[in-house]
Amino acid sequence: MKCSFCSMEFDADESRQGCCGCAMSSCCKKIKCPRCNYEMVPEAGLIKLIKKWREKV
Ligand SMILES: [Zn+2]
Repeated sequence: MKCSFCSMEFDADESRQGCCGCAMSSCCKKIKCPRCNYEMVPEAGLIKLIKKWREKV
């Protein structure tokens, strides 16, 4: 996984585990960069979501 903000490479699975303590939900889908704390939504999931929206319209 490469951060799209600072381009640091890190383990996405490790980062996701850290977010499971988030107060918003038990475990969100976002991946957080350990260096700059920039939050990314996995692209594959985003494309699926957009496709779903297009099918509805
Ligand atoms: Zn970063």
